[in-house]
Amino acid sequence: MYGPVPSRRLGLSYGVDIVPFKVCTLDCVYCQLGRTVEKTIERKDFAPIEAILAELREALAEGAKADFVTIGGSGEPTLHSRLGELIDGIKGITDIPTALLTNGTLFERRDVRGDCARVDVLLPSLDAGDEQTFRRIDRPEPTISVENVISGLCALREEFAGQIWIEVFLVPSINTAPRQIAHIKEAIDRIRPDKVQLNTAVRPTADPNVVKLNAEKLQEIALRLGSGCEVVADFSIAPNGQVTRGGGADELGMHFGVAEKRQTVLSMLKRRPCSLDDISAGLSLSSSEAEKYVAQLQDRGLVQATRKGGRVFFKSVS
Ligand code: SF4
Repeated sequence: MYGPVPSRRLGLSYGVDIVPFKVCTLDCVYCQLGRTVEKTIERKDFAPIEAILAELREALAEGAKADFVTIGGSGEPTLHSRLGELIDGIKGITDIPTALLTNGTLFERRDVRGDCARVDVLLPSLDAGDEQTFRRIDRPEPTISVENVISGLCALREEFAGQIWIEVFLVPSINTAPRQIAHIKEAIDRIRPDKVQLNTAVRPTADPNVVKLNAEKLQEIALRLGSGCEVVADFSIAPNGQVTRGGGADELGMHFGVAEKRQTVLSMLKRRPCSLDDISAGLSLSSSEAEKYVAQLQDRGLVQATRKGGRVFFKSVS
C-alpha cells in the first residue's frame, strides 16, 4: 500500500499494489515501470489480501483522507485470483469509493468480470482498435487479441453498474494515424464507456524512443473521438514546468517521520518516474525535503535519475 498520493484521474488516492513488479499481460512500449518481467495470463494468489486489508485499516485509523482507494500497482491487478475478496474486504472497512486501474485484457473471463463487479470506477486501457497496432504498442501475451479485449469490455459494460473510464495512451508514429484513431473510435462506440481519457508520454518509458504527443494534436484527437472524450491534463506540471497544484497529501507531512517520508517517496517512485516537483507537489514536501529524500535513496542505490524531454526524473531501481 502507498499514499495517499494525488493522481491526475482520481484526485487523492490510497494505492493498493497487489501483484509483483511487472507481472502483466502486456509489455506496453510506454510503460513507466520498464519492461515486463513476467508476461502471463495465469491468475494467482500473489499477495496475501489479509495483510493488505490490515495495512489499509491502520492507515484509515490514522485519519488520512482520500477520494479513492485505488487498486492498481506495478503489474496487472486482475491477475490476482483473490481480487473479488479484496474488493469486498475494502468495502467492508471503508466508505471511500474504490477504483481499479487495469489494462482491460482479461474481461472476456467471467470470473474477472465477477471479481470487479463491486468496484465504483473501472479504469481500463484501450490503445488500439486494430490488431496490428495493438501488437505494436501493447506487445500482449500471445493468446490475447484486440477483439478479445474489446468484446470483454463490451461484456463488462452490459454487466457492470459502475463507471467505466477508458484511457487511450497515444504515441506518435505508433497509434495516432487517422485510420488508427477511426478503429479506436469504432471500438469505443461498441463499448460505450462513461468517459474516454487521452494520455501521452510525459515521463520516461520502457522504450526510450517513445515521445509525447503535443497538446494540440491531443485536443484534435479528443474531438474526433466524441463528446465523452477529454485530455487528461498533467496533474502537477504546467506547460512552463511549474507546479500548479498544491498537495492534498498534507497529512503525510504532518504525521510521518523521516523514515516514513523517505519510504513514501520510494513508494511513489516505484509507481512511476517523478521529477522533484512531482514529489514535492504530490507529497506536500518542500523542494529541499524532496531533494533530501531522493538523495538519501540514491545513496542507498534504491533510486536513479533519468532524463526525458529535457527534464530530470527519478525512478526506483527494481
Ligand atoms: S503500462 Fe500497465 S499494462 Fe502496460 S505493461 Fe505497464 S503495467 Fe502492464
